[in-house]
Amino acid sequence: MAYKIVSSQCTACAACESVCPNVAIFPKSGVYAIDPVKCTECIGHHDEAQCVIDCPADCIVIDKNVPRYAA
Ligand code: SF4
Ligand code: SF4
Repeated sequence: MAYKIVSSQCTACAACESVCPNVAIFPKSGVYAIDPVKCTECIGHHDEAQCVIDCPADCIVIDKNVPRYAA
């Protein structure tokens, strides 16, 4: 865990949903959200967080309220 989506900046384009290797991203309240339990920061799958790379609104950030994921 975990990245989070800044919901006020999310345009609900859905670009992030399909790139997550852990199916951690889901529609919520008209935008998208990340399940912090499922998000592994892409560790073990990719060198960089795929959702962050693909988000055209740049609204996916580290959630400082949860510990960094440790593989
Ligand atoms: S960082 Fe990776 S595992 Fe976490 S939500 Fe984004 S795509 Fe999914
Ligand atoms: S890619 Fe970014 S703007 Fe698009 S749904 Fe995901 S978080 Fe929202």
